[in-house]
Amino acid sequence: MIEYLDRLTAGEPLSEKEYALLIRHHEDQALSEELFARARAGRERVFGKEVYIRGLIEFTNYCKNDCLYCGLRCSNRQLERYRLKEEEILSCCQSGYALGFRTFVLQGGEDPFFTDERMVHLISRIRQAFPDCALTLSIGEKSRESYRRYRQAGADRFLLRHETADEAHYRFLHPPALSWHHRMNCLKDLKELGYQVGCGFMVGSPGQTCDCLAKDMVFLRAFSPHMVGLGPFIPQHDTPFAGYPAGGLSLTLFMLALVRLTLPSVLLPATTALSTIHPEGRIRGILAGANVVMPNLSPLLVRDKYTLYDNKAFLGAEAAEAVDSLSQSMKSIGYHVVVSRGDHPSCRTTSPAGE
Ligand code: SAM
Ligand code: SF4
Repeated sequence: MIEYLDRLTAGEPLSEKEYALLIRHHEDQALSEELFARARAGRERVFGKEVYIRGLIEFTNYCKNDCLYCGLRCSNRQLERYRLKEEEILSCCQSGYALGFRTFVLQGGEDPFFTDERMVHLISRIRQAFPDCALTLSIGEKSRESYRRYRQAGADRFLLRHETADEAHYRFLHPPALSWHHRMNCLKDLKELGYQVGCGFMVGSPGQTCDCLAKDMVFLRAFSPHMVGLGPFIPQHDTPFAGYPAGGLSLTLFMLALVRLTLPSVLLPATTALSTIHPEGRIRGILAGANVVMPNLSPLLVRDKYTLYDNKAFLGAEAAEAVDSLSQSMKSIGYHVVVSRGDHPSCRTTSPAGE
């Protein structure tokens, strides 16, 4: 197995079979310690000890889709729905700016209320009010023309997890109305339109095998995204997958480190889902090669309604107001939070901070 790590460290590709074999050994402690050490060294070569923060604004929990794993799915009638007003979103950005955030991530379900006109208006206002900040969208599958309009209005980045690189697995996770090819095409469009693009997947989602994860790795290497969002699947009690177990900490950390070794310059968050399954999830994620954290900037009153999964962490260290304690906890492991847009190295224009 070490030979595979040597090859990845040297920037050489692994085949799907080789990745699968490596992933099957994720419980091997000596191997994973070695992998984490190499992932940390790789991330430090590119990003030093810096940790980038993004202020996450979950602006609507309405969704027209019915993904089987997600608590926001339209069939979930138990969920109290909300959508933030434009002024509320801008005020979240304002508080975030004062706390040191220079990237805002607008995330939501696929909510038909937010037409292209409304999105363009919102994006333009944020762009105007915060010219030194990056704006990331995570609002699902749209037409190429819609993506073009958002980009033109000032959106810099887009997160659209591919969810799985295995088409049959995609069909298992989604209703027939959603297509793997369409999602993959969206990612292609986003890249062509000049966004910094994030894809990604859940670890331990129902029906996932090591072969699926190996396919994800081969896909990531070929697509070479700017960001990878990767966290454990966590069941939500009002979804068809309520009875499935959550993805494990050790496999999630192993996958994070593999992504770092495969794509050394990638922006890689230690996700809220990781903090939800383990109290030290975020720190362990950083120590496995992650270099981004995305605390929650949504208004307190709605935070408990964006329930993709059960027991979602949104207070304490996951809250944007707690950025000081986040900085402290990063310091305790030798890293430091920076006030910066935190662009991908290939997209930096002037200084590394883009400021
Ligand atoms: N609606 C947009 C989309 O699907 O791209 C953005 C919001 S969606 C809630 C963001 C991500 O949450 C999804 O891509 C999915 O990977 C993740 N997610 C949804 N349900 C989850 C669950 N039960 N456990 C962990 N992650 C989940
Ligand atoms: Fe909607 Fe995104 Fe949840 Fe699917 S994952 S139901 S698109 S919010």
